[in-house]
Amino acid sequence: MRVPTSGQAQGLPLQGKTLDPLKRVEKEIKKCVKCGACRAHCPVFGALQREPAVARGKVAIAQAVLSHGIELDDRTYADMSKCLLCGSCVEKCANDVPTDEIVIAAREALAQQRGLTTFHKAVGRVIRNRKLMSMGAVAAAVMGPLFFRKVPATSGLRLRFPLPFVGSKRHIPNIAKKPFMERHPEVIPGEPGKPRIVYFVGCMTNFVYTEVGEAALALFRHLGCTVIIPRDQQCCGLPGMSGGDLATVRELAEKNLAALEKHQADYIMTACATCGGALHKFYPAVVGKKHPELLERCKAIAEKTVDAALLLQKLGLNPVETGEGEGIRVTYHDPCHLRTRNITRQPRELLKSSPGVEFVEMEGADKCCGLGGTFNVYHYDTSMGINAGKSTAILNSGADAVATGCPGCMMQLSDGLQQRGAKTRVMHTLEVLSRNIRR
Ligand code: SF4
Ligand code: SF4
Repeated sequence: MRVPTSGQAQGLPLQGKTLDPLKRVEKEIKKCVKCGACRAHCPVFGALQREPAVARGKVAIAQAVLSHGIELDDRTYADMSKCLLCGSCVEKCANDVPTDEIVIAAREALAQQRGLTTFHKAVGRVIRNRKLMSMGAVAAAVMGPLFFRKVPATSGLRLRFPLPFVGSKRHIPNIAKKPFMERHPEVIPGEPGKPRIVYFVGCMTNFVYTEVGEAALALFRHLGCTVIIPRDQQCCGLPGMSGGDLATVRELAEKNLAALEKHQADYIMTACATCGGALHKFYPAVVGKKHPELLERCKAIAEKTVDAALLLQKLGLNPVETGEGEGIRVTYHDPCHLRTRNITRQPRELLKSSPGVEFVEMEGADKCCGLGGTFNVYHYDTSMGINAGKSTAILNSGADAVATGCPGCMMQLSDGLQQRGAKTRVMHTLEVLSRNIRR
């Protein structure tokens, strides 16, 4: 799909306040020495082989915009949209250039100058309104058969006819008939003296992959923990961040901070790598930088935020004690927002010790699946081109199932495997670990 533009103020230099987002990252932009080491690690550059696709090119564009060296036009806009915010370049950069944060700043500046795209306006409207989201999900679950036909192999869906922003090839997961959060009370008491865990659920788990939420509950209850599911938690805001809609991200961050601070938590647990990335990294690094009055609160929440697999290991989950398991060959895909937080070993160790699991490593397990939030909407073919290598690696591993720690990755992996006609199951790590627990 062509990157939609607002049609406003094209080809103009950024001025005044519209430059502020880039000024906030000016120090970071200057750190780039243009060595080009990032070229070997950028999935988008690998697919497109164009300099503006890679970190060095994007940082150079941001620098040129700041110095009024270039004007903003549709091309600049399209170049900045070609980033998965996967952080691979950041991990490998010897000069610690945070290209993901620079791209977010550039997108914010572009959005300020040109206005949000129609798509991102719609995204912002939906993610700011939990009720609207719930109603939309219920409507989608009920009306789905009108628009989609079932794909029997995985009980997923495919469009009967093209819709805006949804390609007809795309495999779409089922929407849950009842959201996860509506199935459970706010507080599920555990054993005295055991940790109190506040669960930040995330939209994909709440509305689509509810089985991930059930698996998380089963595991933490198995450990005797009290699990609190704050009723007033919202979308983490990352879909807005990827479109430069920082006003929506701030609004959601403030609501989430308040919702999470209200409960006395030993830990804030996420089973979605993207939500974890938001709470752990992007709230302090992006929201806190833009709104210093929120920085300390963002940092306090980030300190308590921990991924489910990491927390299970920390709390001493012994998968052997969860019961005898059916034999299953499992491989693992590293979600970018876990890999960049160094959470790679723990999910593998847990999977390997789960009874009945034969763990097999796949080639390039640490490579991005190509989703990248709205990147997958605007650049679907490139996104699926990046995903093709991942599907091949999964199939070559001979695994019955691919496990991962991010519902977004689950959707992308399912799409790729479905289009190959593969029968490989896509599961969350917690689903594999909890499959033998009696509920
Ligand atoms: S972003 Fe880092 S790795 Fe890439 S060119 Fe700049 S300094 Fe080199
Ligand atoms: S964040 Fe990922 S997609 Fe974006 S420039 Fe860096 S490596 Fe490429």
